Amino acid sequence: ARNVIEVANLKKEFTVRSPLGLRTGSVKAVAGVSFALREGETLGVVGESGCGKSTTGRLVQSLITPTSGSVTFMGKDLDTASKAERREYQAAVQMIFQDPYSSLNPRKRIGSILEEALRIHGVRDRKVLKARVIEVLETVGFSEEHYYRFPHEFSGGQRQRIGIARALMVNPKVIVCDEPVSALDVSIQSQVLNLLRKLQREKNLTYMFISHDLSVVKYIADRVAVMYLGKIVELAPTKELYASPKHPYTKALLSAVPVHHPRDKKDREILQGDVPSPLNPPSGCVFRTRCPMAMEVCAQKEPTTVTLEGNHQVACHLFTEEATHKAIHSGSGA
Ligand code: SF4
Ligand code: MG
Repeated sequence: ARNVIEVANLKKEFTVRSPLGLRTGSVKAVAGVSFALREGETLGVVGESGCGKSTTGRLVQSLITPTSGSVTFMGKDLDTASKAERREYQAAVQMIFQDPYSSLNPRKRIGSILEEALRIHGVRDRKVLKARVIEVLETVGFSEEHYYRFPHEFSGGQRQRIGIARALMVNPKVIVCDEPVSALDVSIQSQVLNLLRKLQREKNLTYMFISHDLSVVKYIADRVAVMYLGKIVELAPTKELYASPKHPYTKALLSAVPVHHPRDKKDREILQGDVPSPLNPPSGCVFRTRCPMAMEVCAQKEPTTVTLEGNHQVACHLFTEEATHKAIHSGSGA
């Protein structure tokens, strides 16, 4: 499949102030990520909170502008896109959020909320708007009568279906899903996930699916990117990643799954300590302060991303030449 979106060395820095406002610093929320979204696939993006998943999603959706790096849509660099092309992009790439309720105006009927999504793209004809809303409502399992309802009349899972309906109004190619089922009961989660899968098949949609829940991502994603402190540390086809994780961070994350069972102590020891402050990330490998495998070279050099068998990308010195080199030399010197 062709790439719908390509992201290259994308970075986003935010300026932050100390509590008393005496000092400012910059947080690299996204510290140079590269990946592609292939037409019709679901790319899962996992990692602990604060790792840059949501910021990456917002950059892809073009809700915020990157500090540097590029986003390309169907081969066109957004940086050089005209205003009209940019508007087209913003329609083609929609977003759904964890809590659609907060973005549904409680005083408006569902019909007018959904119409708004088309109106901002210039559609004014009331008949066209209403017909489209009813069509989309039916697509997500509602009917015409829901057109006249208010957001509070819907349950959590139903509201997420309204959120999906809103994203579908403009016929997007890509949907960035940011924790779309995290606020829902497990029994409702699978309904929403199955709806997303059905829509993907019917409309050849491409998803970027952001979640901290590894079992949800295993269920829905074709490929998975693992993020840590603003970087992608591993990216592989889902089966490959779950069967044979390479990066020590991914291994640690997976050893804590499934979350439904009490974890044994051994598993939990691996990921002790907190994520370091992104204001002051470690030198070399960003994971080294928590990595049980850290070597000397890990403090000195940032690992490059290498591609292993099975389309498996990993950024860790256990797989780069520097480490092999280093190990041979320290071995012969001993
Ligand atoms: Fe651990 Fe070093 Fe690999 Fe980083 S590069 S994950 S510190 S072994
Ligand atoms: Mg988030």
